[in-house]
Parts: sequence; structure tokens; C-alpha cells
Amino acid sequence: MNIEVNNADRKVVIIGGGPAGLTAAYELTKYDFSPTVLEKLDKVGGIARTEDYKGYHFDMGGHRFFTKSVEVNAFWHEILGNDFLHRPRLSRIYYKNKYFNYPLKPWNALLGMGFFEGAAIVASYCRWHLFPYKEEDTFEQWVTNRFGKRLFETFFRSYTEKVWGIRCEELKAEWAAQRIKDLSLKTAVTSMFLKPRHTIKTLIESFDYPRQGPGMLWTAVKEQVQARGGTVQLNSSVVGINREGNRIVSVVVEHDGRTETIPGDEFISSMPITLFLQRLDPPPPPHILEAASQLKYRDFLTVGLILDKVDTFPDNWIYIHDPSVKVGRIQNYKNWSPDMLPDQAHTSLGLEYFCNEGDAIWTMSDADLIELGKRELAQIGLAQSEDVIDGCVFRVEKSYPVYDGDYASHLEILKQYVAEFTNFQTIGRNGLHRYNNQDHAMLTGMMAVRNIVYHEKNNLWIVNGEQEYHEADVIGRKPTGQQERPSPWPQVLNPVTPYIDDALMGISLGLVTALFTYFLTMFLL
Ligand SMILES: Cc1cc2nc3c(=O)[nH]c(=O)nc-3n(C[C@H](O)[C@H](O)[C@H](O)COP(=O)(O)OP(=O)(O)OC[C@H]3O[C@@H](n4cnc5c(N)ncnc54)[C@H](O)[C@@H]3O)c2cc1C
Repeated sequence: MNIEVNNADRKVVIIGGGPAGLTAAYELTKYDFSPTVLEKLDKVGGIARTEDYKGYHFDMGGHRFFTKSVEVNAFWHEILGNDFLHRPRLSRIYYKNKYFNYPLKPWNALLGMGFFEGAAIVASYCRWHLFPYKEEDTFEQWVTNRFGKRLFETFFRSYTEKVWGIRCEELKAEWAAQRIKDLSLKTAVTSMFLKPRHTIKTLIESFDYPRQGPGMLWTAVKEQVQARGGTVQLNSSVVGINREGNRIVSVVVEHDGRTETIPGDEFISSMPITLFLQRLDPPPPPHILEAASQLKYRDFLTVGLILDKVDTFPDNWIYIHDPSVKVGRIQNYKNWSPDMLPDQAHTSLGLEYFCNEGDAIWTMSDADLIELGKRELAQIGLAQSEDVIDGCVFRVEKSYPVYDGDYASHLEILKQYVAEFTNFQTIGRNGLHRYNNQDHAMLTGMMAVRNIVYHEKNNLWIVNGEQEYHEADVIGRKPTGQQERPSPWPQVLNPVTPYIDDALMGISLGLVTALFTYFLTMFLL
């Protein structure tokens, strides 16, 4: 392989100290580069950062660590060693004053929904399998075709619309395909009765987690980069990017009220691609800026509440589907790791509100948000307002790249434009406007480094394009890149239960139906 001989002399500038940028920096130091990472916040980790308030650690989002990438897994263990814990998972859905286990448990679901509602869901499921939507463009169509309209309305619509702030009819099906592919009612029901050979990741019951949250990992990576000669400059916002034709020559950084121009030979950016293009000097052609202005983001904030209670609820997190409250999800950090709290006599919760930068929730004062959090916590019945002894608020901007309307065609235009640059690569979640988890963001950083070091031509846009890699997918299968469509039984079943045939599926459903019939009869009698 053709490795550059004098890497120490080649200056690589990396925009963003999140998982993608820091991974790229760490990898570069293995080849004697001394990269400079420019991070606008006062800490590393990006969206996966861990905030601290009086010794309580608040994970922005609740980051489970799971990956199919051997390199990424090795990276996590290499950095954290024994501080990388394996944790049990419990998560439930709160809807209409009831809790539903997630993954679905038969008795819990049957008793929770009631037999009539359960029967209606099964009937709706059959109807939509017999006569599905012909088109599967929107989230609503995609989910309805797989789960039936009734289940979609019950369990999918309210939470999805809280997260995205747009109607499910406007949200592209790609998001569902990325997040919940392979998880159908059939697979969920099958998993109640039969142990699959391959596990669906959404159904996994444990995960890895750094002892003090993901920020612990990213702080350790930052320290390693610095120890190996790299620089990680915090509070340094890139406000301009200077180019000469299709070469980037330097970036303009705002730091402590001063601006500084930092030149480089190679540039890697994990900042939002839209902002990157808008800050180019000279600016790109108007149609590029127009396409960039069409890409949208969703933001969220966490209201951190500290309770004078040892135990509040046993879950790691609860999805709040109930539309009567604004909160979307509640994290219980103690259950992620006891070391997220300075003392075990208390509980720290993170109430997540999905919003848009500048809207009523985003601009609400911290004090009002804490009051809102206390009120909603009491309304759900998880704790009394008086239990809350302290609170804090953390806002996370551009946390979700939105897949709406024509986003893909706009992104395609930007993709082609940035491909013309000879010494620039855009990486990570917002750099690629892709719903990437940490592992995929990291992989793009690793591949960008290989492109520099080995002059490889890795296409970063296709990382995680293979649907197989994502959260709800099947562990251990080779990527096929096939787009999932409503399919006959065996094709859907095979990935989940390779040794189980239609007959066994029939037995599973037969059991469920028998139970329904039995309880319905008992009820009527
Ligand atoms: C609610 C939620 C839950 C999640 N849960 C999981 C999970 O369970 N597991 C998982 O693996 N992933 C999860 N993720 C995804 C994970 O957070 C992201 O994949 C990951 O943080 C992306 O890393 P990144 O480096 O690409 O981008 P980012 O984390 O966005 O990092 C980009 C960095 O660039 C900096 N930056 C931006 N503009 C500039 C500028 N102009 N100058 C300098 N710096 C700049 C930002 O401050 C940021 O630090 C979750 C995300 C959310 C929102």
C-alpha cells in the first residue's frame, strides 16, 4: 500500500469534535499526522455528548452502543477498556395511561389494549396485508402496510409526529425503512414464542455503555489525540471556509471573540453540510445554495430533573406516545449506569422535548421548561412535583436530519458539488445529512482517513446506505442492500427465524388467536 512518507508535514484540519471528527483525528494520529480538530462547543462528543450538572451526567439522547462493525467495536474497547459496561435494557411505551412493554410481550399487550382493541388490530393488520397501499412513499404508508392502520394510529403516529414535528404523511418512508426494517407485527409476535437465531436489534435486551456516558468515551479520545500530537481546539466555531477553485485552502475560526485563519492541506468536515456550503468563500453557485437551503433539521432539548427518590421507575427510558403531554421520551440515567449520578439516594431523569430551533419550546426559559417537566412527570404519574429538588436544561441543535419531501434530490445536488473538491471530505451525521448512529458516523471518519492515507476512493455517502446496518436490523447477516417491500411470508420470516417455516408461524399465530378467542369467550360468558 502506498502510505505517504511525510505525514507529519501534511496538515489536516477537521471541523467538529463529535464522534465522526474525533474518530478521524484519532485514526490520523496512527499514521503520524498531527490533525487539528475545531469544535465550536466547550466539550467534545457532538450530539453524543454528556452534559454535567452538579456531578450528575446527562446523556443527550441516551446513547446505546451497538454496532456490526468490528473496527468500531474494537475502537470503543481500545479506548475505554473496563469502563465500557454491558447493561440490561428495559424500555416501555406509555400510551393512554398504560405502559406497554417494548419489545412487545403477549400478556402485557393483550391486557393493556383490551381484547376488542387487540382483535381490531389483528383485523386491520389482515386488511392491510391483503390490500396494501400500492405506493410506499411516506412513513404512514410504509408502517400501515406492515403493521396495519390501527396499530399505526395507536403506536406510531403520535410519537413519530412528536419526534419530527411533521405529519407522518409528509415524512419519507426511508426513515422507517432505516429504523424499523424487519420489525413487523409478525416478527414481534413470533419472537414472543420462538427464539430467533438472529436477533433483531430493536428487540435486544442489553447494550454497551460507557460508565459515565458517551462523553466519557469522547473525552478519552480527545485526550489520546492530544497525547499523540494532535490538537483539539474547543470553543472554536468555523465561520468561513476559503477556497481557490475546487481546493479548500483555509478555514476562518472564531475563538474567544477573535478570528483566526487556519490553513491546511486536507480538510474533513462533520458540520452540517448546509452550513458548510453557506460559509464557503467565494460562495458556490446559486442553485447549490438554493438546494442547501431546502434541507431541514429537527432539534431537541433535555430537561434534566433531579429527584429526592431512590427509585422512580425500572426502565432505561420510556417512550411517551401519549399525545396529552409534550414530552417525547424520559431517560432514567441511573438505570443506564449508576455512575451517571454522584449519589444513589437520588434519581436523575432526562425529559426529552423534540422541537425546532426558535419555536415555543426551544425559546421557553429554562425555569419554565423545568416547571413543564415537573408538571408532565406528575401528570404521567411517574413522580410528584415535590420530589423534584433541582433541574437543568440542555439544548441540542440539528440533532436530526429531516427526510421530507424532495430532500433526496436536493442532497444529490450537494453531493455532486462537494465531490468536485480535491482536498475536502464531508463526514458524519449532518455532514452527510444521513440518519447515522455513532458507529456509522465513526466509520465515515475512518474511511475519510483511508482516503487520505492510502489514496483510496471510499464512497462515504453509501455508509449506512445498506439498510442491513441499522438499528432495527438483523445482527450477523451480510449486507445485501435490498430495499424491503411487502413480501410473502417466507421472505419476511427467513431473516428472523431461519429455521422456522410457515407451519411454525402458523402455530404462533394460531396460539395468539386461540388466546384471543378463549378470553373473548370468557368475557362474553
Ligand atoms: C436523541 C438521539 C438519540 C441517539 N441515540 C443513539 C444511540 O442510542 N446510539 C448511537 O450510536 N447513536 C445515537 N444517536 C446518534 C448519534 O448521536 C450521532 O450519530 C453522532 O453524534 C453523530 O456524530 P457526528 O460526529 O457525525 O456529528 P455530531 O455529533 O453532530 O458532531 C458534529 C460536531 O461538529 C460541531 N460543529 C458544528 N458546526 C461547527 C462549526 N461551524 N465549527 C466547529 N464545530 C462545529 C458540533 O458542535 C459537533 O460537536 C442519537 C442521536 C439523537 C439525536
